[in-house]
Amino acid sequence: MDHRIYLDNAATTRTDAKVVEAMIPFFGECYGNPSSIYSLGAASKKAMNSAREAIAESLNTTPQEIYFTAGGSESDNWALIAAAEAYESKGRHIITSKIEHHAILHTCDYLKKRGFEITYLDVDADGVIDLEQLKASIRKDTILISIMAANNEIGTIQPIAQIGAIAKERDVLFHTDAVQAYGHIPIDVKACHIDMLSASGHKLHGPKGIGFLYIRQGLKLRSFIHGGSQERKRRAGTENVPAIAGLGTAVKLAFENMDENAKKITAMRDYLIEKIEKEIPYCKLNGHRTERLPNNVNFSFTFIEGESLLIMLDMKGICASSGSACTSGSLDPSHVLLAIGLPHEQAHGSLRLTLSEENTYEELDYTVEAVKEIVAKLRNMSPLYEDFCKKQKG
Ligand SMILES: *Cc1c(COP(=O)(O)O)cnc(C)c1O
Repeated sequence: MDHRIYLDNAATTRTDAKVVEAMIPFFGECYGNPSSIYSLGAASKKAMNSAREAIAESLNTTPQEIYFTAGGSESDNWALIAAAEAYESKGRHIITSKIEHHAILHTCDYLKKRGFEITYLDVDADGVIDLEQLKASIRKDTILISIMAANNEIGTIQPIAQIGAIAKERDVLFHTDAVQAYGHIPIDVKACHIDMLSASGHKLHGPKGIGFLYIRQGLKLRSFIHGGSQERKRRAGTENVPAIAGLGTAVKLAFENMDENAKKITAMRDYLIEKIEKEIPYCKLNGHRTERLPNNVNFSFTFIEGESLLIMLDMKGICASSGSACTSGSLDPSHVLLAIGLPHEQAHGSLRLTLSEENTYEELDYTVEAVKEIVAKLRNMSPLYEDFCKKQKG
């Protein structure tokens, strides 16, 4: 096979051709500032309104509650820091989980330095939080719960409807990082009592550097960027109109095709999981078997280094990941895999394959063959594996 096989859709996705097409006019002839009165500006404004409406509809909310940002990380930073500042007179306690994205965890570190207290909920072996532990962790001074909708490494989906119900009952704000979930599984912010939700364009075949934060009407959060009155005075700066037009198109495509794509990708996911479990010994599926994103496959292979596996897969034209893109490059094992209870050596030997509707079964077969061959090769070089085999023989 001479073309590239892209199995890293949790890191980013291919920008859809229709998305690129929707963006191009706004780099060229439609360059007007959306805040301007004349018709050149109106074209930009119209594209922005259309994107905002599509997003609002997809979440069962109103366009006035959608704020464009420069992506998932910015939305997460804004939600946490602004909520902490706005509600600190009520209390300084925040609840999150041990398996959040670094955009949440590092923002919590920052808030901790500013005098906030953070509780990190455990997760079980499948990566699901414990609702009883959540309830027990809520105190009088708790102002915010931030739990991701679905995990970027192991794909586990959290019970956000139940979390939202608990937060509402106890009068605590609920933010969810839905960057991996949005556009892939349905989310209703009203039904789930979500006060704030982060999402990002490039995880759903949209452009990079654009995303949004949903802020429920009535929440008094300060602006993230001070300046002009864009985004209802909460996020100043002339809008990234091309990216917003692209995001709008990506959202429309994702929601038009969600059922069909989810069905197709889930079938491919389960085929891949089954085939790896059947053909490669000493492997373990990470994440929940059914409560998981349609596109996520994550395995640990005992006795190997995930980094070596990735390099050798790359030589065969396969793009994959071990943990999240942010963790590769460092030697620390993934905090997510440690939180689900994997020992360090198993966390190091992990492989994440994340699919899209563009993948084919032929690619999956080729990938399993490649992984099987490389894992066998790496194990043959591993003294740990040699010891293990000797012990097995007695
Ligand atoms: C990718 C990702 C982010 C960061 O989004 P960017 O748009 O890349 O800043 C945040 N949270 C999760 C769960 C992600 O997967």
